[in-house]
Amino acid sequence: MNGYLADSHTHLDQFDPSEILGILGSAIDAGVDLIIAAGVTEESSRKCIEIANSHDSVFAGIGIHPMDIKEPMTLASYNRFKSMAAANTKVVCISEIGLDFSPGMPNISLQIQVLRKQIRLARELALPVIFHSREHPGRSIDHYKTLAVLREEKIQEVGGAMHYFQWDEAVAQVCFDLDLLVSIGKPLLRIPQLQETVKSIPLDHIVLETDSYPQYFKRNRSRWTEPKDVKAIAMKIAELKGLSLETVAKATTKNLVNLLRTK
Ligand SMILES: [Zn+2]
Repeated sequence: MNGYLADSHTHLDQFDPSEILGILGSAIDAGVDLIIAAGVTEESSRKCIEIANSHDSVFAGIGIHPMDIKEPMTLASYNRFKSMAAANTKVVCISEIGLDFSPGMPNISLQIQVLRKQIRLARELALPVIFHSREHPGRSIDHYKTLAVLREEKIQEVGGAMHYFQWDEAVAQVCFDLDLLVSIGKPLLRIPQLQETVKSIPLDHIVLETDSYPQYFKRNRSRWTEPKDVKAIAMKIAELKGLSLETVAKATTKNLVNLLRTK
């Protein structure tokens, strides 16, 4: 059965352009025909838009990833992102933005400044936010700091999803209190604690993702994560919740489509 799964978060623009058709073909074969390509810089956001404009199944997110922040977000940069979204109907969210507390990342107050501006951009454009939050190893309280900034900037007005969710029910509950979804990726296949969390989360709060990017560290190309792998994540959720694959696929795709329609 084709055309019923969605991948809420990928980095398709980072693959060699010659690979895109093959990746999208394998995705379609697995039933994945709605894919969001998220930008991590201005240039990468432009590339995501190009890919989206060339392929029916791809939509674009635009934004600056916390790892890629070099300076405070200027009004000029804000306005360039704003024009990108205004000029392209396939821009459906602000992504990938967020906070990264892990060692070696840009200064956290700089990250917060850029995040705040980008949430304001999302509100001005009425676009949802698919966001990143990574803790300093062993310091899960960091996610509450990310969510506190999002609350202060009124993310509830546009909605969104916490990308690559792999934490406990308490963090999930803060997301739900802010009307945010959780986006589940391949860690679900191997982390028992995440499997327990997902069992307890209502299906109408979940979207799926692969966070696909070129995994050069895996020598065997066939082992790289691609959007087609959304099917394995949906199958795992189906198994955990005692539901059919079709039920999980339809519900999670509907959740994503509804999120993108909040504008
Ligand atoms: Zn990502």
